[in-house]
Amino acid sequence: MAEAESKHVYKKIPAWEILSNENIKQAFDFSEPYKRFLSEVKTEREAVIKIKQMAEQKNKNIMLNRVSGAAIFVSGIKPLSDGLRIVISHIDSPRLDLKQIPLFEDSDSSLALLETHYYGGIKKFHWVTIPLSLHGIVIKKDGDKITFRLGEEEKDPIFSVPDLLPHLSYDVQDTKKMQDAINAENLDIVVGSRPVKGEYKNKIKTAILEKLNEEYGLVEEDFISAEIEAVPAFAPRDLGFDRSMVAAYGQDDRVCAYTALQAILDIEKPNHTAISIFVDKEEIGSEGNASAQVTTFIRSLLKTIDPNVDLDKVMLKSKVISADVNAAITPNYTEVFELKNASAIGHGVVMSKYTGHGGKYSANDASAEYVSEIRKLLNSKSIPWQTGELGKVEKGGGGTVAKYFSRLGMEVIDLGPPVLSMHSPYEVTSKVDIYSAYLAYKAFLES
Ligand code: MN
Ligand code: MN
Repeated sequence: MAEAESKHVYKKIPAWEILSNENIKQAFDFSEPYKRFLSEVKTEREAVIKIKQMAEQKNKNIMLNRVSGAAIFVSGIKPLSDGLRIVISHIDSPRLDLKQIPLFEDSDSSLALLETHYYGGIKKFHWVTIPLSLHGIVIKKDGDKITFRLGEEEKDPIFSVPDLLPHLSYDVQDTKKMQDAINAENLDIVVGSRPVKGEYKNKIKTAILEKLNEEYGLVEEDFISAEIEAVPAFAPRDLGFDRSMVAAYGQDDRVCAYTALQAILDIEKPNHTAISIFVDKEEIGSEGNASAQVTTFIRSLLKTIDPNVDLDKVMLKSKVISADVNAAITPNYTEVFELKNASAIGHGVVMSKYTGHGGKYSANDASAEYVSEIRKLLNSKSIPWQTGELGKVEKGGGGTVAKYFSRLGMEVIDLGPPVLSMHSPYEVTSKVDIYSAYLAYKAFLES
């Protein structure tokens, strides 16, 4: 006989039970254009181009912050002085950036390679032996800008960081700590092996330079004024016999960027003025002029909406969702999670009252009042949600852009889907969680 449980006990209900079969079908349908977005958008620059294109198709107001930030806004029924509803997500993801003078020839191995400096928090062993594509821009001596995107099409070549065979890795890798097994300076990408004929120094490097000059008109110095990112060349795919999940690169945080984008594109007349903001550089601490720390962008955006706006007053009355992912409970490693307070795949969008690490250090800690408001909103629309804390106390932690917006005097809370294998080349999310995020952002932006 099943033991009875008090009706006052909090139960974390799977999104699969909350959503109707019709809703679940919508969630699966929603994941199709999402996967296409992820395959088209693998860098922050590509995200901004796509976001702009989609906003213009829907006749929405968009303002760009240089080449890697954007905001879409929809005027509300209430005056601006009643405050805003903002959803902010980041469009940068961990990857390998090329160095300024990347190309060299290794004579011992007879290979041409590119030097990299990794961007954001990665586990270096994830990035060897996988197919990589190169995305970015190069600005030539005359100022001509070339856009690079090589390795995504079937006919394209791919690139890869080689690794040592197990037969020889005992001393230099196997017996070391995992984080030291692959040296960051060894994350060099192989780009060629065919030498030029004739009397040349560095024949393979020479051949690559010739090829780049022939195809793109580049010379080696042009790499200095370039931003080229090596990202996983994998295409997004359904995961599981039941196809319930999406595996793809860059879901932190483009799962939030995409759902927040769809949410703002799908609203017409919100109660308060609604803004969806997309920022860069979150993965390296939100530094830089297109990051969440740049308040001049939001100030200038508000002045565009209403030149006479009292900025401080509006900001003090504004409410924000920091749309970022949380860590999903990971099988075989449950000891790093405090399971009662951790988020799980398939249980809806994750609300994190606070982030930070040990002692809530560096956290945005949302007020109970604001938590209650978001909880009521989600419950009133039967949108699946759960709470989540990133790992056990003092076992790690993490930050989001939430604190930068709370410093402007706004109410801010973190809300986003849980992700398995976060910051890896192939991150995993659940289709019902993706859809829950979309529903949550839309309900919030409309409120
Ligand atoms: Mn993130
Ligand atoms: Mn991240």
